[in-house]
Amino acid sequence: MSVTLDSPLGAVVGDRSQKAFQKAFGYTTVADLLGHYPRRYATRGELTSIAEIPPGEHATLVAEIVSVSTRSMRQKRGSVLEVAITDGTGLVTLTFFNQAWRQKDLRDGARGIFAGKVGLYRGARQLAHPDYELFEDDPTEQAQEEWAKKPIPLYPSTSSLASWQIAKAIGVVLDVLDVSGEPVPDAIRETEGLASLSSSLEHIHRPKEQGHWQKARDSLRFQEALVLQTALAVRRAEQKNVESVARTPGADTNAFLAGLPFELTADQTSVINEIHDDMSSPHPMTRLIQGEVGSGKTVVAACAMVTVAQTGGQTALLAPTEVLATQHFRSLVKTLGPDMTARLNPVLLTGSLPAAAKKKALLAAASGASHLIIGTHALLSDAVSFADLGLVVIDEQHRFGVDQRETLRQKGRHPHLLVLTATPIPRTVAMTVFGDLDVSTIATMPEGRSPITSHVVALADHPSWMTRVWQRVAEEVENGRQAFVVAPAISPSVREEEHEEEEEISLEEPEPRALATVEETLPLLQAVPELQSARMEALHGRMPTDEKDEVMSRFGAGQCDVLVATTVIEVGIDVPNASIMVILDADRFGMSQLHQLRGRVGRGEHPGTCLLVTHAEQGTLARERVESVASTLDGFELAAKDVELRSEGDVLGVRQSGVRSRLKLLRVTRDGDIIDKAKGYADEIVSADPTLAGHKALVFEIARHLDEDSEDYLEKT
Ligand code: ADP
Ligand code: MG
Repeated sequence: MSVTLDSPLGAVVGDRSQKAFQKAFGYTTVADLLGHYPRRYATRGELTSIAEIPPGEHATLVAEIVSVSTRSMRQKRGSVLEVAITDGTGLVTLTFFNQAWRQKDLRDGARGIFAGKVGLYRGARQLAHPDYELFEDDPTEQAQEEWAKKPIPLYPSTSSLASWQIAKAIGVVLDVLDVSGEPVPDAIRETEGLASLSSSLEHIHRPKEQGHWQKARDSLRFQEALVLQTALAVRRAEQKNVESVARTPGADTNAFLAGLPFELTADQTSVINEIHDDMSSPHPMTRLIQGEVGSGKTVVAACAMVTVAQTGGQTALLAPTEVLATQHFRSLVKTLGPDMTARLNPVLLTGSLPAAAKKKALLAAASGASHLIIGTHALLSDAVSFADLGLVVIDEQHRFGVDQRETLRQKGRHPHLLVLTATPIPRTVAMTVFGDLDVSTIATMPEGRSPITSHVVALADHPSWMTRVWQRVAEEVENGRQAFVVAPAISPSVREEEHEEEEEISLEEPEPRALATVEETLPLLQAVPELQSARMEALHGRMPTDEKDEVMSRFGAGQCDVLVATTVIEVGIDVPNASIMVILDADRFGMSQLHQLRGRVGRGEHPGTCLLVTHAEQGTLARERVESVASTLDGFELAAKDVELRSEGDVLGVRQSGVRSRLKLLRVTRDGDIIDKAKGYADEIVSADPTLAGHKALVFEIARHLDEDSEDYLEKT
């Protein structure tokens, strides 16, 4: 039987095992199973530190038996076999009911691997009915030595598939596997000193010594980087072949720029130039603009929109919330002035528009009567079509997935693409997740911005400081300023769902303490004596849209002094008179999110203050994250720290990339060098062989990475 990487798993390991693997991990092919790499390696000489195993978790331990005893059960008939195992620091008891026969194998001094769910019984750790495999003693001394240092792979396992069962199945596959091609070209493998794929697979799963799996892992990690970067290089090359309408700046662009009420910053000007360079070529622009909150990305995008409009094209601007879409619409109308507004006819398209207005907007988009269509997710609907979509702008891109970006792009014939983000993206992440985008950065803020001062209000240390927080709010209001109070939840039973999906991460056990809510905080504030005369309103995602808009515009117009809100206000809201923000349970938000939130104050001539209120104890990770935010105003530094403190998966975010589940050994936060190198090689490969016709094995891996059939993939390239 010839077994290759694309063989169905069942044909090798049998249907029953195949079903177990599919159920546990979703594996269906030989390649899937062989991609299940060990989490770590143990040796028989080494023992797992038992103290580190949290109760409730499925654990695999390497340990030695120290005592074996049987006793009768207290309440029922029958016996309990109790086996104590140790790592030299702690004890775990294995219990077996009515299985006294096991005593034969489980002898004092025997070593082995034990797996099961760690439970607590009368305060002691125990594994009830664990699976185990004892190490066999080898009679010869020399063999013993080898045996003692031979690494044992420990796999990510489940209660139905123990680590050694996985190892056995992989062994069966490796015995008959025929690896036909090498994804990494020979010349590159030689230069980089990498092992072949077949030897890597053998050695990562069945190493005879430590060095084996290390080289195998390095080789497979490089392969992963090359696969990813080649996929991206192909995508970049494709974009260069696609024809698109060139859009060059003209009289309207100049009039727009001349009419701005402020001087553009140097960065804004250079990004506008980059955009115009991109768009005046006959290939679609795909550009990401990153810049701090308030750095003025919108005006840059607006300029591109005017340029496209003056060449007859339309722009669709996608914003994550209705509040933000509405704000963009209003500020665009204002910036364009009456004359250009009349000609370009901007329309707003959101889910909550009355039917008649929606129909009108749809018609304006489809007929070409409107050149600027601004909206929310509603823009993605099938009902929306355009006469000549020349540019797609995605604001706050981290709120959208790649598929949503593509859906909108499909509504035109290769329109230019501009994505805006205030969440700075570390370079390696940009290269991995957004490798098909060019990146521009607006690094400096417009002049005249007042600095924001941030303080942590640690209620764990100073419970009484809350009173002082509200006094500070009252002081600002008395001086004619406005305040934001942000809470993580809407009401005790309703959490704000519109916004917090992926940013909010709980790194520690959830505390039993209830979170601050908008509905409870408002009456609390109304009872504060100093705030008796303040006008206060609530804003959250569960309110009807027109109500939200009314509250927002009252706050914008200064008719409301204190806005108690959820993260609805996070993105983009611009109220220059707001000078103080109080964030309750600040540890409940992501670091980048806190940074974005506080960017809502200090946007005008008044200095901004941000008070980060937390119950987190000193020394906890939660507290550290909040302190980090207070300690710097540099979004890039925070993003880097955020990456450090978050898991890889959070950094990549499935919704943004779909990459998370595919990266096994590569870590974008650690493997920048490898990614750089792989990118260089990938560009060479693709420019020498654009269809990858001579790289079958690489194509196979790319298709697996993209979850596609390789034939389909080849056809497309
Ligand atoms: P963001 O990059 O966060 O989207 P905006 O585009 O909303 O920022 O800009 C924030 C505010 O700064 C807006 O009120 C905008 O009009 C203003 N602004 C933009 N560029 C400048 C500039 N060069 N000088 C002064 N104010 C500016
Ligand atoms: Mg913005």
